Amino acid sequence: MGCTAADVVAALRAAATVVQEHRDELVRLDQAIGDADHGENLKRGFTAVLSRLDADPPDTPAKVLKLVATTLISTVGGAAGPLYGTAFLRASAAVGDATELDCPAVARALQAALDGVVARGKAVVGDKTMVDALTPAVTAAACADGSVAAALSAAADAAAEGASSTVPMVARKGRASYLGERSAGHMDPGARSTALLLRAFADAAAEA
Ligand code: ADP
Ligand code: MG
Repeated sequence: MGCTAADVVAALRAAATVVQEHRDELVRLDQAIGDADHGENLKRGFTAVLSRLDADPPDTPAKVLKLVATTLISTVGGAAGPLYGTAFLRASAAVGDATELDCPAVARALQAALDGVVARGKAVVGDKTMVDALTPAVTAAACADGSVAAALSAAADAAAEGASSTVPMVARKGRASYLGERSAGHMDPGARSTALLLRAFADAAAEA
């Protein structure tokens, strides 16, 4: 039993809720080392994603992911909009036109998302970005027992650890890098939002 288009939509609903609940936290994190817009940017983007999904629900997982990508690219702005947009676009391409995604397909989608973020933003682990959350998540998303929920839960846990690991880092990419050493001591907002999104996806998969 894989993830249908409806399951992917349910995961995005969960993600939108989590982004709304953590909007202020993400704003505060971005206030410390950026320009305080990350929470509002993502909230706006995921609100738009939900209304487009409601208006015209796509019939394959890839089409859902592509709609998310184009919506985030056109509504989120900042650095994170194109990066998350690219992540979802690459994930969409990675799963082809399957009507259900099994665990290896979900793992491939995560890997493709990371590859897209790295291709676009050129950040590596240690630069204090969302790459510090997404890289360990991809490594952890193993399909030992074939369970999508288990793979996503392991990915979400690894992403949370990865986000925590950004606290002492000095930013080398993005707006926070303008602060130099003063960026140390704060969690990267994009790493935090990546961990939150993966936790929402995992929890949704566990309920499917
Ligand atoms: P902006 O910095 O333009 O205001 P956001 O506040 O929405 O954009 O997003 C900031 C987040 O984007 C950072 O916390 C970081 O995780 C991520 N980011 C910025 N630049 C890069 C990059 N080159 N590669 C990967 N992630 C990046
Ligand atoms: Mg910002």
